Formats: sequence, C-alpha cells, structure tokens
Amino acid sequence: MSSPVSGGPGLPQQRRLVTAVPGPESAARFARKKAYVADGVSTALPVFVAAAGGGVLLDVDGNSLIDLGSGIAVTTVGNAAPEVVRRVQEQVAAFTHTCFMVTPYDGYVDVCETLADLTPGDHAKKSALLNSGAEAVENAVKIARSATGRDAVAVFDHAYHGRTNLTMAMTAKNMPYKHRFGPFAGEVYRAPMSYPLRDGMSGEDAAARAIDVLDKQVGAENLAAVAIEPIQGEGGFIVPAEGFLPALAEWTRANGIVLIADEIQSGFCRTGTWFACDHEGVVPDLITTAKGIAGGMPLAAVTGRAELMDSVHVGGLGGTYGGNPVACAAALGAIEEMRRHDLPGRATAIGELIRSRLLDLADRHPVIADVRGRGAMMAIELCQPGTVTPDAARAAAVSSYCHQQGVVTLTCGTWGNVFRFLPPLSISDDLLHEAFDVVAAGFDATA
Ligand code: PMP
Repeated sequence: MSSPVSGGPGLPQQRRLVTAVPGPESAARFARKKAYVADGVSTALPVFVAAAGGGVLLDVDGNSLIDLGSGIAVTTVGNAAPEVVRRVQEQVAAFTHTCFMVTPYDGYVDVCETLADLTPGDHAKKSALLNSGAEAVENAVKIARSATGRDAVAVFDHAYHGRTNLTMAMTAKNMPYKHRFGPFAGEVYRAPMSYPLRDGMSGEDAAARAIDVLDKQVGAENLAAVAIEPIQGEGGFIVPAEGFLPALAEWTRANGIVLIADEIQSGFCRTGTWFACDHEGVVPDLITTAKGIAGGMPLAAVTGRAELMDSVHVGGLGGTYGGNPVACAAALGAIEEMRRHDLPGRATAIGELIRSRLLDLADRHPVIADVRGRGAMMAIELCQPGTVTPDAARAAAVSSYCHQQGVVTLTCGTWGNVFRFLPPLSISDDLLHEAFDVVAAGFDATA
C-alpha cells in the first residue's frame, strides 16, 4: 500500500492514459476489494484513486482521468480544495471530536449561521447537523411530524432520498435500493412527478395532478410533509416543468403541510444558484443538504423555519458525530471557496458549455431524446429513436467507452438510460471540451 500523493488543483490538468483502464495496479487492488469488501458495495469503475484535484482523478497506475461525476455531486469545489485542506488540517490538529451534545464548539454554530444566511427565504432559520443525506431526510421528517402532529409523508415518482429504512420507503426505485430489504416504514405516499419528456404537461397541470392524488388518497389534513428534490438526482436529473414547484409550495402552505426541499444533490452552487429552489423563488419550510456542503467530508444538515425546528423537544435531535468539528471546518472552507470563486457563476458557465455540446450531439444521434438540466447538473436521456422507450444498453455502452478512454461518467434514471454530467466546478473549459469529445466519440463508436 503506497503513501498518499498530494492532490488538489496543482495536479497536472490533463487526460493521460499510460495503461489500459483499469491498469494492472487497479486490477490487483480490485481483486483485494473482491476478497474483503461486501459485494453489495459496488463501484462504477474498477479504478483505484491515488490523488485528485481540479478536474482530474489520478489512478494508482498513473492514468489521469477527467472527472464528470464529482464523487456523485460532492466535490463541487474540487478535490482537496485549498481552503478545505487548510481548515481541516488546522482543526484536526486542534481537536477531532468532543460530541457537540457533550461540549459544543464554534464550527458547528458557524455552519448553522452560514446555512441560515445562504438557504432560500429571509425568515428566522435554525439547523441541525448530521452525517449523511439520508440522515438529514430522516430528521426533516421527524421535525415535520413533531411540528404538525401528523403522520403522512408524500414523495414523488423517481424520487431518491436514501438507503435507511424510512428513506428507502421514500425512494422510488426497487433495484438496487430496496430489493429484498423490506418491510419499509409506513405512512409514505407517492405522487406523480412532473416529467416534461414523458408527460408533456405544464407545471401547473402536473402539480394539479399530484395534488389531486394526494388529496384523494391521503388527505391534505393528514400530511405532515411533502418531500421533493427540486431537480431529481438519481431518478434521472428530471427538471420539473416551470410552475410545478411554485404550485406545490402554494398548496402545502395553504394546508399547513411542511414542504421539504431535498437539495442534497442539487444544492450548493451545482445548478448555477446556491440552491435549485432559487430558480423559481420557491422557499421551502425545511431544506436538506449534504454532498457538496463540505468538499468531500461527511456532513449533512436540516435547515428550516425556526419555529418548526424548535417544535422538537430538547434532546430529540442529534447523534454522536453529527456536525463533527473536522467536517464543519471543511464546510466553512468549501463555502469560502464557493464565495471567493463565484461558483454559482462558474456552474452557469459550465452548464452553457455542456448544453451546447449536448445539443450538438443530440442533432447527430436520434437516440438522445432529451437534453436537460441546469448549471453543472446536466443530462441526456437515451430512448429508441422517435419514442420514449428507454435505451439503457446504449447508455451502458457509451459509458463503458468513456471509462476506457479516461473520462469518468455516471448514469442514472429509473430505467438506467440517463447520462448525467456533474463535473467539479474547478474543472477547466479545455478539459470539459476534451471530455465531451470523448463522449461524442463514444456515441459514434456505439452507433
Ligand atoms: N437525497 C438525495 C437527493 C440524494 O441524491 C442522495 C444521495 N444520492 C441522498 C438523499 C442520500 O444521501 P446519502 O448518500 O449521503 O445518505
């Protein structure tokens, strides 16, 4: 086992293949993985990483791969971003843990104050810090139930909220997330999502359809919360039609239902604004964040209206590690990077570059049924030409081509037929163009 190599933006920003992908060193490590790591924990690429930064991952064979995945929307500020590294090193040398519930420290409160400032709405807000996205969603539901005295929770088709028991119930897709893992938590109800490619409905009509299902099948007065990803992540980077989210927000407000925006994947500059809700001025009652919040360190949060957050009895929220001081230092460093480098603006520019490349590609390849997304959260959905019949095999073939050519791409979607592009915002335009040249060659090679 080799010692760590320095990563960060100083790594040469290039795609460079010195072996096949995976190379012999990765292959040897993958055999160890197979021996000691549970098979249920899968990997998108059998490539072991030695260092990362800017827009590249350096593997143990010396290959430099272009990163279009950010570790699933986590390293928004780039891997080993300077301000994250600096603050983490300072914090880890001072103290690593006290448990905020035993003896508190400034970093936790600093993160909560920053979240109050950055999240949508200018009302009084408070936060609780947790370890993972799923834990944040669980806590948001606990808070909504405590605040309303109601049980039911509404979620949407194609939703992804996590892998714990309650969040599995909230997640839509069976395979691989739920298969043989039931029984699931009760009082979770599913409504139809706005999916412009597949329903062709206006946002208002799609919201009316969802509200009608919830009204008739659950009853507004029984609903504690409606939880929604403003742009769905794992479900296929589905951007609801304009007007859908505002109409839903109006209905929840009128009926005393807590609106939970799950911005775990879409938040923290990813879509060109601090949060995806900001595009339509939607102000959720509670917002869950994780992933991009802390530059790669595990941290998550529920942030929301102070009176809702404070409806929970003293001692009702928390956990041993939630808001760990090192993770909080990383978050403060990541947010500093976002502000200093105007990363919402950079995400918008990246989105324009990617969109133009994808529209070009869609002109030449009728298998691309849709180009969608916002900012640096872009996707294409692949279908049999002229239909909306999913073509997952083609998505897998192009993805595998990209991996072999040194571009880390991810797929997603209920049918596995969506290519999603979510590079770190520290990537250069040159690397992005090179990556999309490879993606384009992948479509040509598999035509
Ligand atoms: N919600 C959304 C929208 C997500 O994208 C994810 C992770 N893909 C989660 C919740 C769960 O987060 P975690 O994996 O940190 O538990």
